[in-house]
Amino acid sequence: MRVLDKDFNILRVNDIFSTLSGVSRDEAIGKKCYEVFRGPMCFTPDCPLTRILAGEKRVEYEVEKERKDGTRVPCIVTGTPFQGHDGKLIGIVEDFKDITTHKQAEKALRESEGKLNAMLQSIGDPIIMMDKDLNIIWSNEIAKKTFGEDIIGEKCNEIFNKMKEPLEPYPCLTLEAFKDGKGHDREIKVIDKDGETIYFHCTANVALRDKDGSPSAVIEIFRNITEHKRLKEQLLQAQKMEAVGQLAGGIAHDFNNILTAIIGYGTLLNTEMGKDDPLKNYVKQILSSSERAVKLIQALLAFSRKQIINLRPINLNGIIIALEKLLSRIIGEDIELSTVLADEDLTVIADSTQIEQVLMNLATNARDAMPDGGSLIIRTESVTFDYEYIKTHGYGMPGPYVLLSVEDTGVGMAKDQRERIFEPFYTTKEVGKGTGLGLSIVYGIIKQHNGYINVYSESGKGTTFKIYLPLIKSKVEEEKSADLSIIKRGTETILVAEDDA
Ligand code: ADP
Ligand code: MG
Repeated sequence: MRVLDKDFNILRVNDIFSTLSGVSRDEAIGKKCYEVFRGPMCFTPDCPLTRILAGEKRVEYEVEKERKDGTRVPCIVTGTPFQGHDGKLIGIVEDFKDITTHKQAEKALRESEGKLNAMLQSIGDPIIMMDKDLNIIWSNEIAKKTFGEDIIGEKCNEIFNKMKEPLEPYPCLTLEAFKDGKGHDREIKVIDKDGETIYFHCTANVALRDKDGSPSAVIEIFRNITEHKRLKEQLLQAQKMEAVGQLAGGIAHDFNNILTAIIGYGTLLNTEMGKDDPLKNYVKQILSSSERAVKLIQALLAFSRKQIINLRPINLNGIIIALEKLLSRIIGEDIELSTVLADEDLTVIADSTQIEQVLMNLATNARDAMPDGGSLIIRTESVTFDYEYIKTHGYGMPGPYVLLSVEDTGVGMAKDQRERIFEPFYTTKEVGKGTGLGLSIVYGIIKQHNGYINVYSESGKGTTFKIYLPLIKSKVEEEKSADLSIIKRGTETILVAEDDA
């Protein structure tokens, strides 16, 4: 504390002042207040002490004062009038409170708050906090990016699923946490601000409690599992195809052996029989039915990738050009066929007959999907699978591929149909019209070529099949493997071992 007269001369100081300012009593007394322990407002019109001289009863302000040794100390300064016995104003009493520790604590708090905030913001999952009325009272940035920039103050149930009430039929996680004060978690589905469906694994926990211990705020953390879910679905789908493939392949193999015997003996019977034998017609029936069975079995073998294929480097564009006429005949006059082929040669290691079969099956289906006409577009282009692509699509090995897409403007497919089309014998066509084998053959062939096939379709919106085959870059390789195929044609004796007599 120090006492000043009306001209700001220091009249008195106490020990606390001396300790705080580093200025001794003797040094201080007689000096102007702004010469000792000065601050930024000293000797300026802003000096609050002047207001005491003008009649104010008390001023209080925070300021940084300079000690004798030049260091600064944050203080709260209180000024009050110094009055004589008669009540007349003699001067000003100035009191100083050192708030260094307070300031340090404040700074530390600010820093730790900043750190905490940085931590919360750096978490890649959306986090929101709700009060008892389900108002969102805090969120991290990623939550704002996901659910909307202005979610603070909104009701969480209005944001999620744009529903007015907490998600039905499940009880709302936040409400549950408010009710029993425990943590809850579940998979939830929400519609984000762009209208996209996102799946989250969501945990709700009590963040703050009232004095009586009852929850006053609940924090929810959202882990996006949409991609995870999609990959899982794809894996299940692949596993299903694998299982069906093995089953079909196993049956087809054994059945093929049986058919070989039937056809063999049938043919023998046919040749041994006299030309005019009345039973000859029966044998013919047996043989032609067996031939049909062979076709069926071949389809199953194709699906289960057990077909023997003749791989050679071929130019995919060439195959399409050569097949164009046949394809337009398959689809008929009402459907317009166009091809958009990549400028460069697209060399793939493939069995050209099989690739032709793929194109024919897809064209046949497109025709059936466009009974009133439409258009069929076949495109080729080269694409590259990078790790990002593989991650988002859930399949593939990195490298260059040929993308062959077959797009129609037909009836399209719903989701549950889309999921089953590659299964053998899955057909939506009437008996006699569809076998349900076309796409399973296509699937098997593409897999046997180390390729991938996807379908993009919606009811009424047409269908696009996308097929990816590994692209071979160098022409040299083409010649090399062509050489190999010449070498293969030797004069060796081949021993065939078969366990079925
Ligand atoms: P099939 O043609 O004998 O029915 P597929 O295996 O070729 O057998 O096709 C299976 C099913 O997939 C079809 O019955 C049809 O429901 C659906 N489908 C295939 N291609 C298309 C397409 N381009 N547009 C709409 N649906 C299709
Ligand atoms: Mg078909």
